[in-house]
Amino acid sequence: MFQYTLDIFSESAPAPASTLGPVSVPFFEPDLARYDHILVAFSGGKDSIAMVLDLIERGIDPGKIELWHHDIDGREHVGNFMDWPVTADYCRKFAAAFNLRIYFSWRIGGFRRELLKDNAMIAPVAFETPEGVKVAGGERGKIATRRRWPALTPDLRVRWCSGSLKVDVMSIAINNQDRFRGKRVLVMTGERASESANRAKYLPFENHRCNAPGQRVNRTVHVWRSVHAWSDEEVWAIIQRFGVVAHPCYHLGWGRASCAGCIYGSPSQWASLRVAAPEMFGVISGMEGELGHTIRRDETVTQRADRGRAYDMDAETIRVAMSRTYDGPIRVAPADWLLPKGAYGENAGPC
Ligand code: SF4
Repeated sequence: MFQYTLDIFSESAPAPASTLGPVSVPFFEPDLARYDHILVAFSGGKDSIAMVLDLIERGIDPGKIELWHHDIDGREHVGNFMDWPVTADYCRKFAAAFNLRIYFSWRIGGFRRELLKDNAMIAPVAFETPEGVKVAGGERGKIATRRRWPALTPDLRVRWCSGSLKVDVMSIAINNQDRFRGKRVLVMTGERASESANRAKYLPFENHRCNAPGQRVNRTVHVWRSVHAWSDEEVWAIIQRFGVVAHPCYHLGWGRASCAGCIYGSPSQWASLRVAAPEMFGVISGMEGELGHTIRRDETVTQRADRGRAYDMDAETIRVAMSRTYDGPIRVAPADWLLPKGAYGENAGPC
């Protein structure tokens, strides 16, 4: 296990004992001044927004901060398969509103290609860099057939959507950029202990898998889950302080901004997606039939939607959520800020 070393922590914060539960060390934080790059895994959901706003409140040099967004559906297909169409542009507009850099990355072909992989290797990863888009990976994988939905389990080897389309994408993008050689890099991810028993086990700080301290690469990469001990209330409080308008899905009633068609979707989320995005719902439902494999072992998405009740959604918010352009405000005056109706809603899904 990674051994914490005192020199990476601020002097006021004692190094955490790795045996302590994560919620019991909320004061823990690394010395941010010692990092050259701070890469925030930015989904556009409330926890990733809270991480960024917290950095801003701490007065961190914005020039060090980079938002990294992984496009779940890739960019090679017309239309979205699993993700909210508006997410990428919402993230782009958020970054612009705070004068922050944002880089997009994706597994080529996205979720659909991975799902339909048939006697093929995993696809390469494309990632934006300061010099333009680069492509890496997809050369050493095994030839294999997938044609199975991700399993509903914390094990990322079989819940392959999170692993192949997010975690691995970020690692490949870090490993294949020389600008990180000889540098200290802090990766920030937004898992919170209160979300699930599995996430409660995550350490708030640890080595990232791209940490390569040897002489050849000499790259230090740590992960800091800065909001790991935060409550829902704390997350929404910082969003309110900055007057940030949350992703449209929260205003439709979703409690998390994960994929629109997240495999963990509750009955009411599937019922709501069927109303808000009937085409997207139909494609996912049709894919279950084509594969002869359902996301849930015991029911189809249609059966699951039939057990739920669609949220009370207005047509304009549906239009914004299903648009590829976010044309709403990112920030409003504090007096005009509204808590989204999904703010404390169903907490379905680990991503
Ligand atoms: S949000 Fe859901 S479907 Fe999307 S990558 Fe995460 S677990 Fe998979």
